[in-house]
Amino acid sequence: MKTIRDFDLDGKRVIIRVDFNVPIKNGIIQDDNKIRESLNTIKYAINNDAKVILLSHLGRVKEVADLPKNDLEPVSIRLGELLRKKVLFINKTRGSELENAVNNMKNGDVILIQNTRYEDLDGKKESSNDKELGKYWASLGEIFINDAFGTSHRAHASNVGIASHLPSGIGFLVEKELKNILPVIEKPTHPFTVIMGGSKVSDKIGVIDNLIKKCDHLLVGGGMAYTFLKANGMEVGKSLVEDDYLDYAKKLLKKTDKIILPIDNVVSDSLESNKSHITKEIGPDEMGLDIGPETIELFKKYIDSSKTIIWNGPVGVFENKLYQNGTKSICKMFKKEQTVIVGGGDSASAVINLGYHNKVTHISTGGGASLELLEGKDLPGISVIGD
Ligand code: ADP
Ligand code: MG
Repeated sequence: MKTIRDFDLDGKRVIIRVDFNVPIKNGIIQDDNKIRESLNTIKYAINNDAKVILLSHLGRVKEVADLPKNDLEPVSIRLGELLRKKVLFINKTRGSELENAVNNMKNGDVILIQNTRYEDLDGKKESSNDKELGKYWASLGEIFINDAFGTSHRAHASNVGIASHLPSGIGFLVEKELKNILPVIEKPTHPFTVIMGGSKVSDKIGVIDNLIKKCDHLLVGGGMAYTFLKANGMEVGKSLVEDDYLDYAKKLLKKTDKIILPIDNVVSDSLESNKSHITKEIGPDEMGLDIGPETIELFKKYIDSSKTIIWNGPVGVFENKLYQNGTKSICKMFKKEQTVIVGGGDSASAVINLGYHNKVTHISTGGGASLELLEGKDLPGISVIGD
């Protein structure tokens, strides 16, 4: 696959699709991590004398009222500060002002175009990969670089559309994600353990079905464990259960003995209560909100002997201090010589917020995109770039 390093960028108009989808409240950026993560690729293009044209989406635009809160201008200001360089913001997604600005660019200049999803107001042109829009954006540049991993699982005008018309490659961020995740999915070093948790089985069927074939063991915690435990005939009280997926769980448990379920739980009467206790048998009015200490020990045996680990889904309601212990304990188990990949939006924030990001090999930045990779799917924003 071509990367930005494979192109001669000197004097070229290079369109880079970045992921600037940062949280913004009243015009103030709450977390600029995504902007920082794009800097490598942008700086590389600047240092190689490219004319850098940046495109990103921000939030969702369904009606006129969504426009001001999803304005990318604050991002252009922050990006300028981080680059210590002027970033010209064009408050339009097309038209003569944009075209003139592009035509007047000098080598090393940076332009950020307004939120690509402003085009969604008029018949979802960005999100439905409108042919004419992709072609138009492509006409502004000479080379296209996709560095927005988090939107690569969607075929939009600003990734697939543009890439269909220009010589294309991936940026450093996408390259890092693929380099870390793909080998583990395609050729994992055994013993290979998958840890899954989170809330719903239904969200993760694709991941389970793909990884169960490849792994040696699948450790299941979190809310989804209770659908499996109930399928096994256990009383799970008020725990999160998806009755529509009991059949799926039953069949899977019958088909494979790779699945390891919790043997004790941290339970409470409600999520709001500040009282919890550990039990092997869940009462009718109780709900399981974290894995218990014996489960932690059980999981540890499998984790300790693994060479490769993929983890998706916190094993408890980690947002609440009472139910963090399982997720924290798992973080602490990982050793330097193991390859540990964390995928999924909440899993990433759990590992980062609990302070264990340096215990793992790679935390994927793209929630939905990383899940689709774990499902073994091709990402349209990547496959369009080809080998
Ligand atoms: P990811 O975004 O990493 O794919 P999910 O979205 O599937 O993960 O799941 C994350 C959510 O699962 C968290 O908000 C967490 O509170 C919830 N969760 C974890 N364990 C339980 C549980 N036992 N009962 C209910 N919800 C749970
Ligand atoms: Mg999630």
